[in-house]
Amino acid sequence: MSGVVQRAKVLLADPVGLAYRLGAMGGTGSLWSRYGRLSRGAGIAKPYFVLSFDCDTEEDIAVAAPVHRRLRDMGVTPVYAVPGELLKKGEAAYRRILDAGGEFINHGYREHTYFDAARGRHASCFFYDQQTPDAVRRDIEEGDRNLREFFGVVPLGFRTPHFGSYQKPAHLAFLYGVLRRLGYRFSSSTNPVFAFRFGPVFRRHGMVELPVSGMGDRPLRILDSWGCFAAPERRFGPADYQRQGESAARHFAGLGTGILNYYADPSHIHDRPEFFAAVAAWARVARPVTYGQLLAELPA
Ligand SMILES: [Zn+2]
Repeated sequence: MSGVVQRAKVLLADPVGLAYRLGAMGGTGSLWSRYGRLSRGAGIAKPYFVLSFDCDTEEDIAVAAPVHRRLRDMGVTPVYAVPGELLKKGEAAYRRILDAGGEFINHGYREHTYFDAARGRHASCFFYDQQTPDAVRRDIEEGDRNLREFFGVVPLGFRTPHFGSYQKPAHLAFLYGVLRRLGYRFSSSTNPVFAFRFGPVFRRHGMVELPVSGMGDRPLRILDSWGCFAAPERRFGPADYQRQGESAARHFAGLGTGILNYYADPSHIHDRPEFFAAVAAWARVARPVTYGQLLAELPA
């Protein structure tokens, strides 16, 4: 089969996705206007801004509390997604954050990065799409138990470790079933394309999903702290993070509705003025809230 035919078959297997990719190629205006319609249809009368942190390495432990204090001074209270094993290692720091108003969601139990000594940096492991469904369920349940019994927090929501590789309908159906049985209220485990197809908040299989937000000029692409600040080979740099964050802020301000759902890793951004400039831009156009506060305000 020729490459072109093969590619056409792949695209036709997902016609809605194809339509959105074609739409994005022709400019992002129609994507943003659809997003605005979906957002208003979901009863979101003004823009909200949630900042969450995936704390995937021990390097995050050292910087998380100072970053938290700095953001609180800006009027922003972040949400923390820390794998259970790292929550134990960083207990003192994360308890300080909890005492200072931080909200915690379940991010699984096992660590999903490791230090690659040969390359001198962290690398990813324990991808859910490479585990059996049983192993995925156990990791979510252990993360939940750890938060409740060790940390004393009843989590309301979940973010899938390395969620980008766990986006298929069957993955999400399975995930939402596990979260429903745990009594969770939401997940934030999908790529930006979901927000443009289904809205910034939508319900699937009895679970509320809040897709993460993308770059201003490339709204289907995650605004990624690793990619802009930390990756050894970078297509985007720190200035792009700020530029794309500020561009997104202008889009949301223009719409007058939406959920700016941005996440980063503290170790990537703790000393980066470009990150804090983007946060300031988001907080200027949207009301900063935690996921818990957001859900309390949205129509049921
Ligand atoms: Zn993670």
